[in-house]
Amino acid sequence: MGEVWDLVVVGAGPAGSAAALAALRVRPGARVLLLDRAAFPRDKPCGDGIAPHALDVLADLGLPGLVDDHRPVHRLHLAVDRGRAGPAVVGDMRRPARVVPRTVLDDRIRAGALAAGAVPGRGTVRAVQAGPDGVTLTVTGRELRARVVVAADGAGSAVRRSLGLAGPPRGHLALALRGYAPVRADLADEQRIVFADDDRPAYAWSFPVGDGRANVGYGELLRDDRPLTRERLLRRLEDLLPGTTAGGTAWRGHHLPLSSAGARQPDGRVLLAGDALSLVNPMTGEGLYYAVLSGACAGAAAVAAPGAGAGAAHRRMLRRRLGAHLRLTGAVAGLTARLPGVVPAGVLAAARHRSVFDDLVELGLGRGLLSVPTVLRVGGGLVRGGLVRGGLVRGGLAQPS
Ligand SMILES: Cc1cc2nc3c(=O)[nH]c(=O)nc-3n(C[C@H](O)[C@H](O)[C@H](O)COP(=O)(O)OP(=O)(O)OC[C@H]3O[C@@H](n4cnc5c(N)ncnc54)[C@H](O)[C@@H]3O)c2cc1C
Repeated sequence: MGEVWDLVVVGAGPAGSAAALAALRVRPGARVLLLDRAAFPRDKPCGDGIAPHALDVLADLGLPGLVDDHRPVHRLHLAVDRGRAGPAVVGDMRRPARVVPRTVLDDRIRAGALAAGAVPGRGTVRAVQAGPDGVTLTVTGRELRARVVVAADGAGSAVRRSLGLAGPPRGHLALALRGYAPVRADLADEQRIVFADDDRPAYAWSFPVGDGRANVGYGELLRDDRPLTRERLLRRLEDLLPGTTAGGTAWRGHHLPLSSAGARQPDGRVLLAGDALSLVNPMTGEGLYYAVLSGACAGAAAVAAPGAGAGAAHRRMLRRRLGAHLRLTGAVAGLTARLPGVVPAGVLAAARHRSVFDDLVELGLGRGLLSVPTVLRVGGGLVRGGLVRGGLVRGGLAQPS
């Protein structure tokens, strides 16, 4: 038998590289292979919006100031499209986000992991087989052995399938299309998100890259009754954010496996992280923070409990860090799908109360919970708007006070 790695990480995206970094922080000198089918730098379809929470995790893993050379974007503008007269709110987030193309971000995180001692590997993992003593991975043309494997191989995770675990069911899987286009003049300094009022949950975005371009896109839930074609996604983007698709290039679509699916980390030596564990916020499509956080938990669990107990250790860490938040976002997403008034009521309440705006940012980008006053304010708006009817009052653009 050839060498046995302490840890093989499948996928060198944010979740995988964070896992490698965390493992080497907990146990310097551990033998960690960071494997990917792609040559880096590689693109990954994304809105490129990176929340400060994700950068905090990366700083804790030894990568402070990773994207400080990219302009901070303070302003967030949320709107509900209701014949262009829906409620809206614009305000400065307590901490700015950054918009960093994934060709840059992912390459930097991976480089950090390699500098910390991870060994780079190239190959496509086809299957994993976990036994009492370790895991065997079938990789293009060869077999590898590891004590523990972290599956960070994204939305279509081959490792997850190989374990016999299903991906998210309909209702918890979205598809989004993104491209890069010259930024619309009024959108150069803000992240704009426009929620569709007829299809829920669905929204269009424009995130300024800082070089005269914006990352623009549109995503919605997959449904049995209608194919999500590139033409439909582009048309919906242009409907919700007119003038943003002109001159666009690099259009690419990708699935978003939503955390509302309630995916569970199984026992054993194979640990799931990021999109492979369906960790995308069902309200906002944010997945980078969850990816680096869950990757960090997986990497730490892999070397702290380097055997059959790794899965349970990872599950405990995830529950501690994200459990309450994921239960809440799942519940809010379910409510949003059933009651048309929830998103407009939330946006309107955020326009009236700074604390609601802050709560919604934390819920959508970090691991925030909702305070009682926020629940009462959004709930009150819902009741006043006539719960299911969704005929909520029109709200103008307002600065949170
Ligand atoms: C259009 C769109 C817009 C989005 N916008 C945002 C946003 O603005 N902000 C945000 O926070 N999140 C956003 N997300 C979500 C975010 O992109 C994901 O949550 C994030 O990429 C998850 O990271 P990951 O490391 O789990 O997976 P990935 O980034 O997908 O990395 C997986 C890696 O695994 C490799 N791989 C796959 N299969 C194999 C295999 N069999 N063998 C070896 N290697 C393999 C791939 O090459 C890849 O490098 C968006 C998603 C989409 C689709």
